[in-house]
Amino acid sequence: MSTRIEPQLLEDLKAYGKVDVEACFNCGNCTAICPLSENDATFPRRMIRMAQVGLRDDLLSSKELWLCYYCGECTDTCPRQAAPGEFMAAARGYAISHYDSLGLGKLLHRRPFWAVVFMIILGIVLAGFMYTRHGTMPYDTLGLFEFIPAELIHNIGVTAMVFVALAGLWGLVNMLRHEVQRSGLRLGVRYNWWQALIDTIFREVLGQKRYREDCDRDPDAPPWYLKKWFIHASTMWGFLGLLAATSLDFATALLGIKETGAWVPIYSPIRLLGTISGLFLIYGTTVSIIKRLTKADRSTEYSTVDDWAFLIMMWLSGMTGFAVEVAIYLPPPQMWAYWMLLVHIVIAMEMLLLIPFTKFAHIFYRTMALYLHALKPIPEKTPEPVPAGTD
Ligand code: SF4
Ligand code: SF4
Repeated sequence: MSTRIEPQLLEDLKAYGKVDVEACFNCGNCTAICPLSENDATFPRRMIRMAQVGLRDDLLSSKELWLCYYCGECTDTCPRQAAPGEFMAAARGYAISHYDSLGLGKLLHRRPFWAVVFMIILGIVLAGFMYTRHGTMPYDTLGLFEFIPAELIHNIGVTAMVFVALAGLWGLVNMLRHEVQRSGLRLGVRYNWWQALIDTIFREVLGQKRYREDCDRDPDAPPWYLKKWFIHASTMWGFLGLLAATSLDFATALLGIKETGAWVPIYSPIRLLGTISGLFLIYGTTVSIIKRLTKADRSTEYSTVDDWAFLIMMWLSGMTGFAVEVAIYLPPPQMWAYWMLLVHIVIAMEMLLLIPFTKFAHIFYRTMALYLHALKPIPEKTPEPVPAGTD
């Protein structure tokens, strides 16, 4: 496979975040200090070198980009103030934009002003579309789905999910095109496919093992509920829990078990899952927003529009969803809840549609990178030597 050199790569990367690695003299301090860098996955120095010499395809197809959790330790200790942690974050934005073939990722990452304009317009279009199809607003009871029909929400939700799944799959194919060749995976070799999958989903994605055990070593040791891994995990658990609760609600309606919007007690399992997940999401995003506003540590000192859009949308979706839920258990009339539902659906749909093009996309790429990292050949069993004299 020929290697293409792109001399302008470093300049291109600057449009995606704070990239100051010209000063880097490849001492390797950052790789030595990085708690997640290992023999078969070394970063950030190797990634920086790729950017310096213009190895664009190598950079884009490196699973190591996604193994970094941006703890900022490497930036703190770089003798040249080359900000390697910030470089890794910018390179991830660059990769997300280049895995996407529609060009939307590039617009959202490279043009902050137009990114905001685009998001506002998309929100207005979605709100207008919903509003033109709205029904009545009952006064004596809270008929949320008489105002926005459940069928309309389901249809838009399913369409958005199919779009996101296809765009995410396309991005993964683009990510893997080169990585599979470079990763050394070979036909005819047995790998721990299933064990790696279970480890990735349960230990790494849901359990945040590497982030929790290796990466979050703040010497000032904040209490567990303020540790970076827990804040990250809260946001992710909340997001996934809400997705699961919404899907289960949809499935029960499809199976005729329960009508969407029918009143259920707060302790019914799906409602409980939604409530607890919403609280996790609000907690994780609120603390993250405060940390970014106060620049609480190295990893929150520099923020892009993408970082803010990611957090604000999730926070708004959690808060509006929670407000609607409170309204359900208050005595009617709660007329504000109709509008709150409209805002909640618009934000949730917009967030869903933007997943493949924004920081949200790390859900796909980090999971895949963790899976590839966990994938190891199964050693062939060597036959036991036959003891002499047993014939
Ligand atoms: S980024 Fe800093 S620590 Fe890392 S190799 Fe370059 S100069 Fe050394
Ligand atoms: S930010 Fe943290 S995890 Fe990422 S490369 Fe630097 S030290 Fe490693």
